[in-house]
Amino acid sequence: MARTFTVTSGGQIRCRGWRQEGLLRLLENVLAVGEDPENLIVYAALGRAARDWPSHDKIVDALKTIDDGETLLVQSGKPIGTIRTHAKAPVVIMANCNMVGQWAKAEKFYELANKNLICWGGLTAGDWQYIGSQGVIQGTYEIFMRIAARHFGEDLAGRFVLTSGLGGMGGAQPLAGTMAKAAILCIEMDEARIDKRIAIGFLDSKAASLDEALAMIRQAQAEKRWLSVGLCGNAAEIFPEIVQRGIVPDVVTDQTSAHDLVYGYIPAGYTLDEVRKMRTENPALLMQESMASIVRHVTAMLEFQRKGAIVFDNGNLIRTHAKNGGVEKAFDIPIFTEAFLRPLFARAIGPFRWIALSNDADDIRKIDDLLLQMFPDNKIVTNWVHLARARVPFEGLPARIAWLGHGERTRLGLAVNQMVREHELSGPIAFTRDHLDAGAMAHPNIMTENMKDGSDAVADWPLLNAMVACSSQADLVAIHSGGGGYSGYMTSAGVTLIADGTQAAKERLQLALTNDTTTGIMRYADAGYDESFDEIAKAGINHFRL
Ligand code: NAD
Repeated sequence: MARTFTVTSGGQIRCRGWRQEGLLRLLENVLAVGEDPENLIVYAALGRAARDWPSHDKIVDALKTIDDGETLLVQSGKPIGTIRTHAKAPVVIMANCNMVGQWAKAEKFYELANKNLICWGGLTAGDWQYIGSQGVIQGTYEIFMRIAARHFGEDLAGRFVLTSGLGGMGGAQPLAGTMAKAAILCIEMDEARIDKRIAIGFLDSKAASLDEALAMIRQAQAEKRWLSVGLCGNAAEIFPEIVQRGIVPDVVTDQTSAHDLVYGYIPAGYTLDEVRKMRTENPALLMQESMASIVRHVTAMLEFQRKGAIVFDNGNLIRTHAKNGGVEKAFDIPIFTEAFLRPLFARAIGPFRWIALSNDADDIRKIDDLLLQMFPDNKIVTNWVHLARARVPFEGLPARIAWLGHGERTRLGLAVNQMVREHELSGPIAFTRDHLDAGAMAHPNIMTENMKDGSDAVADWPLLNAMVACSSQADLVAIHSGGGGYSGYMTSAGVTLIADGTQAAKERLQLALTNDTTTGIMRYADAGYDESFDEIAKAGINHFRL
């Protein structure tokens, strides 16, 4: 049966209530905006919405039949049954890709995945929270703007940003770059991904050769005109070629799926088809070749850094693989979280999202207006909302992301719930956030690298965070660990709430949104960050300082 991947609109529901219907619409949405929906793949190489099609169909069935007071259990994308709970319990709880410590290795993951015993949910694929490339766009934009403020001035006008990877998340880079007014060149192996980003409005143009791409960038720089250019090619070849030509970009990063040496990264010297075949026929050789290419790729990044470029790791484990491949200085490249965003996370300010379940874009515009009214003094938010509403196209269900912190998320959630109640919006709104959030992630080479107290690898925090969400009446709660090349590298938690305008939703939003950011502040306070103590004092959080 040929499947179609569309979102559902309007106020007609197929489930017993909006909590269940909302989650079903989010599941449909992650597939509608995903990279390879036929294979249930949403983003980040292997991040899946469900284990397989029978699992998917059973999840849909279950969401359509369960009532408040029943909870659906999902294990690595496979529904395993429902249990009787109570009306305030989550509708769905899930555990995705958690392997026991000594076994949590990429090879073991592939073995278990091949036996269909496990699947990787990425960070927001398996728990149906992904909203397309917009999901990371503000984070990427804030990084660029912090680099500008620290090194160049007001913005990146007249500056050359070099990066690679135009997949689900990497596809946000060109738009974030031009929002920061840069001339940004994105190297991508798969021409179809370049065309997709142009079609959805995230990328401006495509060059036919490196010469043409560099000429376009030079011209834009000279005119201080922002421009994004996609170039089909392999970053492991093109980055070294740019080094050899003696050209030094102002900013360099990478967002290929370098975390996964088999299903993500494409080694130099191979076509996409050859790599697809090698994945089953010779994964060991593919791993070796990917590693060799990553060594060249990161060596070029280090060379750019040596010559004065601002180089950072954008959260894909590329340094880790390079170091394992023998690049001793790979970790001279800083990770974006520690370098640019930690002071925000220490205040539990992070990527918060809302999605119009009725598929009415006007709902998002009305919430944009509300944000501007509610937070007129929050420069990050007001600047972002003006930019986003002008420049960020919607994909799938209309959605917005904005970095909000403790108290702000709760206030917004409650105000929106009231708007739903009073029919000022055309339907309920789902609230969620990235797993890369203050209390929700342990990822020692990305989120928690170089924590002040050395607690980088302590995974208690996301587990506590998920239990807090369950105890606080969230509608969906998920615990994820890394799969594929991320196996053994991370644990995180996801949470979703449906604001359906009811009194019960008001209670859920109040508790779950407040307690989510509270655990984030407590986590960073425990590690000794002053910003967190400041928030604790301001918000009167009952934190024990031992
Ligand atoms: P994706 O799998 O959808 O896309 C990756 C892209 O990289 C593909 O289009 C692929 O063709 C391209 N590619 C692979 N090797 C290449 C090479 N050598 N040269 C040029 N292009 C190459 O993945 P995604 O969702 O875009 O995520 C990319 C990476 O970012 C992943 O490792 C993911 O885990 C990570 N990530 C980071 C953040 C963050 O907050 N910074 C958030 C989400 C994901």
